[in-house]
Parts: sequence; C-alpha cells; structure tokens
Amino acid sequence: MTTAAMPLHAPGDAPAAADGADRPPEELLLHALPDAAWLVELPARRVCAVNAAACALLGRNAAELRGAPAERLLATPEDLAWWGELRSALAAGRTPLPLDSDTVLPGADGRLRHLRRVARPLGGATATHCLVAVQDASAAKEAQARLAEALAELRATLEATADGILVTGLDGQVRGFNRRFAELWALPPELAEAGRGADVLAWMRGALCGADARHLLARAAEPALRTTERIALRSGLVLERVSQPQLSAGRTIGRVDSFRDLTERLRADDRIDALARSDALTGLPNRRQMAAQVEHAVRTMRHSGDAFALLIVDLDRFRRINDTLGYEHGDRVLRDAGERIRRGLRQGDEIARTGGDQFALLLRHADAAAAEAAATRVLDAVARPWQADGEPFTLTCSVGIALCPAHGRSADELLAHAEAAVRLAKLAGSNGLRFHQQHGGTDLRAQLQLDHAMRQALAAGRFRLHYQPQVSLADGRVVGAEALLRWRDPALGEVSPSRFIPVAEDTGFVIALGDWVLGRAVHQAARWQRSGLELPVAVNVSALQLRQPQFLDRVRNLLRDHELPPALLELELTESILLHDTDQALARLHALASTGVRLALDDFGAGYSGIGTLKQLPLHRLKLDRGVVQGLPDDARDAGIARATVQLAHALGMEVVAEGVETEAQRRFVAEAGCEVFQGFLHAPALDPMSFERRLRESQPRRARPPAPSSRHVAADATARARHLALVPPPDAR
Ligand code: C2E
Ligand code: CA
Ligand code: CA
Repeated sequence: MTTAAMPLHAPGDAPAAADGADRPPEELLLHALPDAAWLVELPARRVCAVNAAACALLGRNAAELRGAPAERLLATPEDLAWWGELRSALAAGRTPLPLDSDTVLPGADGRLRHLRRVARPLGGATATHCLVAVQDASAAKEAQARLAEALAELRATLEATADGILVTGLDGQVRGFNRRFAELWALPPELAEAGRGADVLAWMRGALCGADARHLLARAAEPALRTTERIALRSGLVLERVSQPQLSAGRTIGRVDSFRDLTERLRADDRIDALARSDALTGLPNRRQMAAQVEHAVRTMRHSGDAFALLIVDLDRFRRINDTLGYEHGDRVLRDAGERIRRGLRQGDEIARTGGDQFALLLRHADAAAAEAAATRVLDAVARPWQADGEPFTLTCSVGIALCPAHGRSADELLAHAEAAVRLAKLAGSNGLRFHQQHGGTDLRAQLQLDHAMRQALAAGRFRLHYQPQVSLADGRVVGAEALLRWRDPALGEVSPSRFIPVAEDTGFVIALGDWVLGRAVHQAARWQRSGLELPVAVNVSALQLRQPQFLDRVRNLLRDHELPPALLELELTESILLHDTDQALARLHALASTGVRLALDDFGAGYSGIGTLKQLPLHRLKLDRGVVQGLPDDARDAGIARATVQLAHALGMEVVAEGVETEAQRRFVAEAGCEVFQGFLHAPALDPMSFERRLRESQPRRARPPAPSSRHVAADATARARHLALVPPPDAR
C-alpha cells in the first residue's frame, strides 16, 4: 500500500513532475519507488531529492522539502537519536547502522498513522547519502485490528455457546477448541491449555465408550459429509456430535465438530418413560413394565438357563370393598395390599400392579417350590387382619403361577398362563394358589369329569398299551419299544394321552395309572424275552410317580417277579422331575440306576436343559424332542439343537434317540448327526403287541432267537452304541 493511493493529502506540485525530463537521475529513481522516499545528503543531513509519494505523505511539496533538515521530517525521539548517532559514526569513521522500525505519527488530517520507515546510509563509513523510505501501514494495521476484533468476537461467541466445539485440520490435527469442549470431554488442564496437537484426539478416544471410539476414527475419513450422531462417554455423558466440513473460499480445509450434552434431556425422557411405566395409584411398575421385565427375564433364561416364576395375585371379591367402604378406602387398600406383597419379596424380585385389583410378581431363580413358598407368603400377608376407620375386615387373594421355561417362553404366554391359573384358583374357592396346567385343563369342571372317567376306565380295564418300535440308525433293526398308553372311552371316544396324562398329573391319578403301565410293560417285556425277543421296553414315568417313596421297591419287585433282566426296562423321565427337591430326585435316580434299569431323558431340547444338572444324572439316553426333529433338516435352529444334543450326549456317554421321525430326510439328518436310534411314523406308529410282533417278524424274520449271552449284562457305561447293537443278535445266530 502506498501513500500515493491516499489522495486525501495530495499536495500541489507533485504529479506535475511525472515526465521527469528536467529532474536529476536520483530523483527519477525515487519516483520509480512505490513508497514515499527521499534522499538525504551527508554529512549535512539535508533532503536533496524527494518523490511524489513522500510529498503526499508529508503534506508538503517538493520545493519545500528539498534542503530541509532530514531529522525534521520524521521527528520522533527514535529518529532524532538515530540521526545523532549517524553523525557521530561518520565523524568517527565508523560504519553507521541502518534504521528500521515502526512509528506512529499524526497525519495531515490529524489521524494517527502507522508508519514503517527505513533509513539506510548508502555506503559504509564514507557514505555521502542516506535513503529514507516510508511505508504507510495504517490500512494494514486497521485491517489487522478489525480481524483481531472479529476473532475476539468469534471466540467470545464460541465460548458463550452451550456446545463444545472442536476444529481439526484435514490432517486430523486439532487446531482449536472452546472451553465448553474441554469441559464436556473433561480435558486435563495441561491438554486444555496446550490447545493444538493430536493428544486431544487420543484423550477423546480414551474417553469414549468402546464401540464409539472406533466410530469416531472412521468418521474423520469423510471430510465432505455433514454427520450427526450420538456418542456415549465413559463419564456417563451422552453427546450429540454434529461434524461438518470447514470451508474456506470453497475449499474444505478441515472439520468443525460441535458436541451437545444430551444427558439431561435423555434423563428427562427417562423420567417421562418411567411415568408411562408406572401405576399412578400405587407408584408400582405397571403391566407394560412388567411385560418388559418378563421379556427380559425370558431372554436371560435363554442365555443362562435361569428359571423364574411369574405370579399373578388377584384380590378376592375386591369389589365388595369398593362398594361398602367407598373408592377412597378402596384405593388405600390397594396401596396397602401392594405394600404387604412387596415386603415379602426377595431382592431382585419385581412387583407390578397389572390391573384393577391385580398384581404380578416376577421371582428370579425360582423353581416350583420357591414359587409356591412365595405365593404362600403373599396369601398370608394379604390375609392378615385389615382395618378401615377402626372397623376390622378381611381380605384374601388368589395366586396363579407360571414357571419359565417349564410353562412358557414368552412374556405373553407366561402372563396368560398365570392369569388362567389365578382364575382356576378362584374357581377352586379363592384364597389359594394354583400352578399353570400345561395342557388344556383350564376348565376345572371338564378336568374333574375326565379324572372320573379315567378312574372308571382303569377299573374297567379299558386302558391298553401300544408299543412304538425304536430302530437302529446303523442297520435299520428294531432295538427297542416305547410303551404308550391308549384309551378308548365309550362316551369320549379315543382320548389322546396328551390330553388325559396332564389331567392325571394334576389330580394325582397318574400314580395309579403309571403303576398299571409299569406292571403291564414289564409283563410284556418278560413275555417277549421268554419267546426269544430280547427287546428293552421303555416306559414313561411321571415326576409325581417317581416322587413316591415306594416307587423304587415297586420297580425292583416287578423285575424280580417277572424275572426280567433290569437292562430290558428303560424308564423315560422328563426334566420336570428336577423341579421339586432336586437333591432327592437325584438320589432316587441314582438308586434306580444302580438296580440296572436304564434311564432316558424324554423330550430333550424342548425346554430347559441345564448342562450342569444333566452331568449329574445317571442317564443312558437322551430323547431328542419331536418338536426339534420336526424342523429338520431345514430349520437351522433345530438342526443346531440336534447336532449339539448329540455332541453333548456323546460327551456324557449317552445315546441319542430321535423321536417323531416322519420323513426320510429327517432320518438321514439324525443319522448323519450321530443319533443312534430313531422312532417315528416313518417306521411305525405305536402298535398293539400282536401287530408289533407281526411287524417285527416281517421286517426282521431271523431275530426271534435267544440272544448272545453278553447282552444280558448291560454295563451302565459310555459304550452305549456297542451295547444296544449287542442286543440285536447277528443274522446268523439263528
Ligand atoms: P412322548 O413320551 O414324547 O411319546 C411320544 C409321542 O409321540 C406319542 O404320542 C407317539 O405316538 C408320538 N409319535 C411317535 N412317533 C411320531 C411321529 O413320527 N410323528 C408324530 N407327530 N408323533 C409321533 P402319544 O402316544 O399321544 O403320547 C403323548 C404323550 O403322552 C407322550 O409323549 C407321553 O408324554 C405321554 N404318555 C403316553 N403314555 C404314557 C404313559 O404310560 N405314562 C406317562 N406318564 N405318560 C405317557
Ligand atoms: Ca416318551
Ligand atoms: Ca418324547
């Protein structure tokens, strides 16, 4: 910037000399310079030549300036001192130093001007001239000042925003950030002060929760995009990050990230959510919340196998309270009832008010016994005397119980089951508890009728046993039979065991019925054995039956009376035997196994299977559940369960029987998966004894022969495969 550009101070004669025809060469040289300049004669220190820019700057014309004392033109103390110093240097024969610094002088208009001037003696100690050049830096200085102001303003704005701001260059290096940023990210003071540098990014990475850290790095690679995302810090803060390119003259030069603290807002959302999940009257969680918790417990159960119980507690005849005491009292009773129930819970258990006079309890790590104990506590707590305005009154409740996974594997299912059970409890007279009944049986009256019909049928000899062949997957031979109950009732027609067995289990009739089955099956197995058909017969045994103290003796006596080798009797049990008093059940199983009978776990893969428990059971076989086999070979989940079951069983020294094999594809799959035996409609349904024998003779004409002696003593060891193959005499044993 030159002073010639400032017409404000334009003097009279300067531009007239533009042609320069009559000027000395040194003056022409000065005119060629863009800045104000003049030449000073030494040692006299008088101006000898001056250019137009200088005239303009100094506000005087050339004639006035020529011959003027040099120190008068810019008479700051520094200039005066320099000219004095120049004189002494020349007088002493020293080389004078140049002057080169900034100064401020009032201009012709009175405004202060920032000048930079350079005074340079031309030549060393014998210099005869000195050149003075002056640059007016006022405009640049003003621009600089404006910029500084703007920057300060910007900084103040940035500091004033509630957002943390971070600026990074294209190289990913941090160029700056505001205090809020340092606060949000809890930058340590040394980092916050250092400002620039990559350490800040490293700190940020460390402050992020795991997955977000990788994210942040990945994003830096997309400078052209504006992105918004939520990130979680280890400190617990949740930030919204808006990242956008920083542009300068249309070019991306870096990124600006702003971080907004969402934590409070999310907390507020949570509070609203909490209100939506709680019951206004009692302050307890509501049905929606309970459903979510049950859903969560179901998921946990799938991973960890943690069984739990869902209880529905329904106050008995609560309407009566509302009607006689009024709604206000009714509300108080509801609150108090909730409180009484809640106090009986263990830590980790949950309670919710799920309806008008209904509560739900989620009991973690609870089996049937624990659920029953909790339900009894609830019944007692609610039944304790009540008072309203000094008047005593009584209130009772009913409890319905559903167990997970035994009774269901989804929140809806469990809630529905527990509710149906509580209705049954009410039907049965209130102030009691009731477990969900697995199959049908929701209608108490129909159940009682069926129970009655069963008792009559047993007395009248209308039950029969059919036998379903069990077939070796290795060679297609029949290697066993499962005894299955059949009942044709004159009034009800053919009734499926899936319908009557659960009822018999509920009413306890299954003890008598099961005993009949056991006797019948042992009798049949012994007959077959005597006729040369050495075939183990499997009998289904209910949990309740197994729990009878005399069961073990009954088995022993039957074997002895019929002279049946124990290895020819197999007892099929389900995991429900472990629901009540696991230790006692285990002791019973070991005692049974020690008699030499074989034990199989039925319906494996259908429900809960704790591997830990499985290891303790003296089992010979696992029966892969029909439901799993049904999905084969296409259902990936079932295929996985099937393969895992086989591996698990083999690792524990057990065989696997695949149940319900209906197609060739299923048979092939279970064979390839390593199952030893299958049963199912593909080979045959359960057949009456005559048909069973006939069929066996047809398909295996040469096997009705005394077996090899080795098969009589079946060891309870891991060589299950060899064992069952040995039960089938070789073709030439005839
Ligand atoms: P379970 O012990 O799992 O018996 C197998 C069931 O699957 C039998 O039904 C059988 O007929 C059926 N089944 C066999 N192969 C196939 C097939 O390929 N496809 C299909 N869809 N089904 C097949 P069933 O006889 O109706 O018995 C049902 C359940 O009743 C039995 O299931 C068992 O839990 C119970 N049960 C039967 N008899 C007795 C018994 O004497 N005592 C006890 N406690 N329970 C019994
Ligand atoms: Ca069975
Ligand atoms: Ca089964």
